[in-house]
Amino acid sequence: MQSSNSKKLKENEKPIISNPSNFEHTVHVGFDPHTGEFTGMPESWAKLLSQSNISKMEQKKNPQAVLDVLNYYDTTNKEQQEPKMKYMTSIKPPSADSMRPTLSDKFSNNVVISPQKVEPATHASEEEEEVDAPPPIATRPDKTKSIYTKPIEPEEKANGAIATNKNDKPKKRKMTDEEILEKLRTIVTIGDPNRKYTKMEKIGQGASGTVYIAIEVATGREVAIKTMNLSQQPKKELIINEILVMRENQNPNIVNYLDSYLVGEELWVVMEYLAGGSLTDVVTETCMDEGQIAAVCRECLQALEFLHENQVIHRDIKSDNILLGMDGSVKLTDFGFCAQLSPEQSKRSTMVGTPYWMAPEVVTRKQYGPKVDIWSLGVMAIEMIEGEPPYLNENPLRALYLIATNGKPEIKEKHKLSPVFQDLLDKCLEVDVEKRASASELLKHPFLRLAKPLANLQPLILAAKEAQKGH
Ligand code: ATP
Repeated sequence: MQSSNSKKLKENEKPIISNPSNFEHTVHVGFDPHTGEFTGMPESWAKLLSQSNISKMEQKKNPQAVLDVLNYYDTTNKEQQEPKMKYMTSIKPPSADSMRPTLSDKFSNNVVISPQKVEPATHASEEEEEVDAPPPIATRPDKTKSIYTKPIEPEEKANGAIATNKNDKPKKRKMTDEEILEKLRTIVTIGDPNRKYTKMEKIGQGASGTVYIAIEVATGREVAIKTMNLSQQPKKELIINEILVMRENQNPNIVNYLDSYLVGEELWVVMEYLAGGSLTDVVTETCMDEGQIAAVCRECLQALEFLHENQVIHRDIKSDNILLGMDGSVKLTDFGFCAQLSPEQSKRSTMVGTPYWMAPEVVTRKQYGPKVDIWSLGVMAIEMIEGEPPYLNENPLRALYLIATNGKPEIKEKHKLSPVFQDLLDKCLEVDVEKRASASELLKHPFLRLAKPLANLQPLILAAKEAQKGH
């Protein structure tokens, strides 16, 4: 028997099927509380579960969380061979129909799984042999890479790419290459960037392109240029959104977009150059004191307050996405995952980000808003204390289960932290979104008064670079 709720959900989702590049997989799973066994579970899920280290007791305690994370994790694994897709998205506004099914709905009815994209194991270190002295890049396990899943709800609006079907339901239509170029031509600067910038050397490699350091001829200032071969981009229209969001959201705590060009098949994006490497290098190689952590938190919160005021959710806050200047400046980067909210679209449901940093409401696929960035900032604060996020050593499936069920993660030697720092962590890592502090509230938090001047980050940056030379 189906509840009306899930019927609605199912009907609502039908239009997604129209896109041949997506698939839907409908599963009927039940849970027998007497035997503690799931019924009707696909073999692949049963296998994942048996290998997950999620104990029988844990399964019984929260079978819904087990299904939520299996739902996510199974599709992640399936798509690991695919090219990475990292892009901004937008989703139609939440409605009663669009809410995910309740436990009882889900157990008696369908769990609809949407595909998701995963970054491949690209790592900048593969490129390091080719250049003299790139900023050090910490070795991190592949499981710290960002992921993006399709929303439960139909998407999407990407620079006018939306098409509407007869029933007035949003339906995806891929922009043609010609439309992409047309749109890009309206954004980029006309002319040859080689006259304006002297490209120096390669400093990094991402999944979507290669990053070079360059000199702006007129001013002599250093810039970073990311070159992306458009023919190799799986989701070109979303790169456009990334550029537009970057261009429109300039702030001292954001790695700012400066310029862009079309050069043959390539899109060049010119941005500020940050020579100090990422915060990951610092957290994995050095010990930060509270004054330094408070300084980084303040700078990141300034970036988040700015973004959230402009209705942008970053969605992938983690140390890898914080770049440092040699003067100790702290800037947020990587807008490939950000979501621009609008009055009609004030909530999201796409599972996006990097599992260990994800807020519980993202892991359990609830509707969510800007406060997901605050949770991730709390996890990043743990990185600054312990060198890595909670559960990094766990089987990823169990880590997701723990995020979904544990609430606030445990901090190993929390009692050694100052009471104000403990309080800030509590306010970021609050499961109840309503009670979780906003960026503006946290900027007034007494912990930030402990912040040392940014120049105090310099020794950490130098130490991290030194340590990485030794690796
Ligand atoms: P993608 O965004 O394609 O997924 P990614 O996030 O792994 O890739 P990129 O943004 O392509 O990485 O950057 C690759 C590397 O280049 C980074 O790890 C960083 O070391 C370096 N880099 C990127 N932007 C800058 C910058 N503005 N200043 C200095 N170094 C940068």
